[in-house]
Amino acid sequence: MKSSLYIHTPFCVRKCSYCDFNSSEDPGISLDEYVLLLINELSSEAGRFKVESAPTLYFGGGTPSLLSARQVAAVVQVVREQYGLEKDAEVTLEVNPGTVTPELLEGYLAGGINRLSIGIQSFQDDKLRSLGRIHTSEEAKDAVRMARKAGFRSIGIDLINSLSGQTLQEWATELQEAIALQPDHISAYGLTVEEGTPFGAMAERGELDLPDEETSAAMFELTSSFLRSSGYEQYEISNFALPGCRSRHNQGYWRRGNYLGFGAGAHSFSREQGFGARWENPQQMSDYAETVRRCRPPVAATLLRREAMEEFFFLGLRLLDGVDLDAFKIEFGTHAEEEFPGVIERMTASGLLVRDGGQLWMSAHGLILANRVLCEFL
Ligand code: SF4
Repeated sequence: MKSSLYIHTPFCVRKCSYCDFNSSEDPGISLDEYVLLLINELSSEAGRFKVESAPTLYFGGGTPSLLSARQVAAVVQVVREQYGLEKDAEVTLEVNPGTVTPELLEGYLAGGINRLSIGIQSFQDDKLRSLGRIHTSEEAKDAVRMARKAGFRSIGIDLINSLSGQTLQEWATELQEAIALQPDHISAYGLTVEEGTPFGAMAERGELDLPDEETSAAMFELTSSFLRSSGYEQYEISNFALPGCRSRHNQGYWRRGNYLGFGAGAHSFSREQGFGARWENPQQMSDYAETVRRCRPPVAATLLRREAMEEFFFLGLRLLDGVDLDAFKIEFGTHAEEEFPGVIERMTASGLLVRDGGQLWMSAHGLILANRVLCEFL
């Protein structure tokens, strides 16, 4: 089996105000103990999955840059030995600026990491403070410069727009600051206010001054036009890359490729049986540790045919290349028009989707209304 691999690190210095990811300031064990659990899990699961080649490995979080270079190298080594990491594999580590030094980044490079994804989010200190980030704008820029100096040739940065009080002009300045750093990849997401987070509570109390729908749409359009005119190709709704610098790992998610996740709360997906299966490790550290100690893997939920068909569109249409309707017919043995009667015709007639033979993708207008388009397939 060919599969991408994901390693979750649920440790953070401080919880950000908008974050509902599985991460904590105090997961209850040390990083050394956690790395030991990861290595045990990777080793015991290797025989079960029989991965012959892994094209990508991704350290996500949480804050994986809290791991030392030695800890990261130890995990990469186990993956190499037991999962057949491909020779030119993309090996990414998410970095939180403010947790890194030149020595640490050099150590990551020496330990096998060849791509960094740096969570900048904003270049304005007041916005960073309100997001609860632990770094300043200057530290974020320093992290990118340090990464280049350390020798990283593939650097991505993450930004968030539609923040409380943010104007279109402020977002334009953020984009200018971003390209001045010459990253190879830019992810620009609109803020999502999640229930159960400090922002969720603030929104309920009316304390967030979020931009209206029109301004958010204008921010999205500006992101596309500005980054495209600066040499970045938009290959997914929120993702832009210099030629040859798309994230191979994330494209695997949208193309419904196999991925195996390790660590507390990590998700996995395999297309080895039927229409695919998904499973998730326990989120609580004590439950995860128990699962690893007892070598008791989580139970997989098999996808129903209908669910797999919905995912085909819901995930595939996020990519600007879109989906191949002939591939749908081959996989499911039926035409998409029969399974989603009227949807493709209606969406193409209204200019939200574009069809050319068997290829179907979202138009520029469709991208702005992406959620509406994608929900038509659910
Ligand atoms: S650093 Fe990332 S994972 Fe950690 S709390 Fe902030 S947004 Fe969440």
